[in-house]
Amino acid sequence: MTESRSAENILQVSELFYSIQGESTRMGLPCLFIRLSGCNLRCHYCDAAHTWTEAGTAYSVASLKDWALAQGCGLVELTGGEPLEQKAVYPLMHALLADDLEVLLESNGSVDIGQVPSAVGVILDVKSPGSGMAESWHAANLDVLRRRAQAGSRDELKFVLSDVHDFHWAMAFIRGHRLQGLLPLLFSPLQPQFPPHELAELMMAYRAPARLQLQLHTLLWPGRQRGV
Ligand code: SF4
Repeated sequence: MTESRSAENILQVSELFYSIQGESTRMGLPCLFIRLSGCNLRCHYCDAAHTWTEAGTAYSVASLKDWALAQGCGLVELTGGEPLEQKAVYPLMHALLADDLEVLLESNGSVDIGQVPSAVGVILDVKSPGSGMAESWHAANLDVLRRRAQAGSRDELKFVLSDVHDFHWAMAFIRGHRLQGLLPLLFSPLQPQFPPHELAELMMAYRAPARLQLQLHTLLWPGRQRGV
């Protein structure tokens, strides 16, 4: 039976590529990336603006699953842009899981993650003031993350920090919401404006319950914004 090409199973895709996972606790693992087009935010430091300045290419859920299965890699990340802006991302997640692929989803924190399957590992951004988008935080997602953690999901929270002010803001956010021990917390310094050693020293001085994360793909392929 041929797949229906309704809006329910068509996605606008910015890039498909195979690379090394540059972020999260899976950093360093070979990984497939399905980067979807479109984003509802406009962060000051956006390094993926092509996802929302260019229309992308239409793919069906079935063709994306076939592409993933043909690559010979068991780990797939759905990213953007903001992948949850496209409703066909849900059938795509289910289709990839059904073929025993490990699926990660990176989301910008402004969209409800309540319908994401518990088998998908969510890497959720918390936009700090330096992004210009801190007001976009969808607060109800914290309850969803707590429920998912109890169900055994492997989610993570990521803070991209622009400066010392962002660091202290993130520490207050973690304390205020009692996030320590709930799930991995990632602190990623915005480079070059926030030197990693300065963030490392702050994390040690203030006993941050977080993991320092440097974007591995930017170290491996400096200056490249696509395909890595
Ligand atoms: S959420 Fe990501 S893709 Fe969207 S504007 Fe911010 S950095 Fe760019």
